[in-house]
Amino acid sequence: MGGTRINTFLNLVKSKDRTLLRILKHLKIAERDGRIFLTVPDPDKREYVENIIRRKLGDPLAKEVVVVSEEKCEEAKYELPTGLSRRFTFDNFVVGEGNKLAYEVALTVSENPGSAYNPFFLYGKVGIGKTHLLQAIGNRCAERGLKVAYRTASDFSEEMVRYIKEGRISEFRDMYREVDVLLIDDVQLLSGKERTQIELFNLFNHLYMKDRQIVLASDRHPKELKDISDRLVSRFEGGVVVEITLDDMTKIEIVKRKLQELRLTVQENIVRLIMESTGPSVREIEGAIKTLKLGGCGALKPRTKTDIETVQETVAIYFGISREEILGNSRSGKVARARRFAMYLCRKVTGASLIEIARAFRRKDHTTVIHNIRKVEEERRKDRKTDYILTFLEKQLKDRV
Ligand code: ADP
Ligand code: MG
Repeated sequence: MGGTRINTFLNLVKSKDRTLLRILKHLKIAERDGRIFLTVPDPDKREYVENIIRRKLGDPLAKEVVVVSEEKCEEAKYELPTGLSRRFTFDNFVVGEGNKLAYEVALTVSENPGSAYNPFFLYGKVGIGKTHLLQAIGNRCAERGLKVAYRTASDFSEEMVRYIKEGRISEFRDMYREVDVLLIDDVQLLSGKERTQIELFNLFNHLYMKDRQIVLASDRHPKELKDISDRLVSRFEGGVVVEITLDDMTKIEIVKRKLQELRLTVQENIVRLIMESTGPSVREIEGAIKTLKLGGCGALKPRTKTDIETVQETVAIYFGISREEILGNSRSGKVARARRFAMYLCRKVTGASLIEIARAFRRKDHTTVIHNIRKVEEERRKDRKTDYILTFLEKQLKDRV
């Protein structure tokens, strides 16, 4: 029996990451209680190995792998993975108006965990630095020898389910109750996960009583969270709640910094081009810069206008009508629905203003747009199929380069 899991694991690594395979050749690998223990004495390497296994292998087996330092392996004791990536630090975070408060609170938290702001709840739109700040807090605390666990809410949930299935939930609890800093990302994903919420609530209380630091990030304010128990939400709100945004000045600074990091020339026209081709998300900036690096300036297209057109086009194709019909005045059910969806999606994915959208749909004023968007929001909440269609279209639009 022994060794079969190790072989499966090594084959998995072989197919996914050759560098890791080369590293593994020099490491002690053991199998105990159905788990694979990798001994990595060097802490830097340990982190690297752990990250690759967690992020890149994408196989349930990867979760059975425990990376330990020498001593711990002797005891065959489970060491909670930190979930941290060294890539995110305070030093490489560009600070500006929209994220200054979030940055300062994060820094204070990392210097005085468990005392100043507990819990710290950070919220804001996607791709603007929430994960980066959580990770930066974690890295700073880990450097000082504190025990850190960073998890997205869904990772935390999956991990819990696994322990429950194996009848080892008390082990799970014991481990998490040991941490000094608990960082839970994307807490909106706890929505509807009742058991996870109960577990997190208890863990929260336990850590809080012991003055351990808790940091949470979400795409919305705690009050806007859906299907999360009131008592948990009230815990989330019990410390400091900070919104993070991205203003244009900071965005320019980030563009410049990212160009420098990639050793690309920082020219005004290039910065402008990137500004025009991206919305309010740092992730988009990074994508644009990569596109630019690969394909030159011609590869980037100015955004808003073409984007609205793309949305109209995509929705029209989905409904089997023409873009002209969407822009026209027909009140037929299908056309009106497509038009509504298109307006809603424009607002969601292009970052265009209501007035711009109204104009792009040849409407006189933007109240029609507001009305239509509200209607779709309601439909989406109430009707699964609508939600499904919109999710599909959103994905299609986002995947477009
Ligand atoms: P979120 O969690 O809010 O969706 P992330 O933290 O994952 O966003 O940020 C997306 C990308 O943008 C990451 O690569 C992150 O390092 C980078 N980023 C975000 N904000 C900044 C910033 N202020 N300075 C430098 N890089 C940033
Ligand atoms: Mg994130």
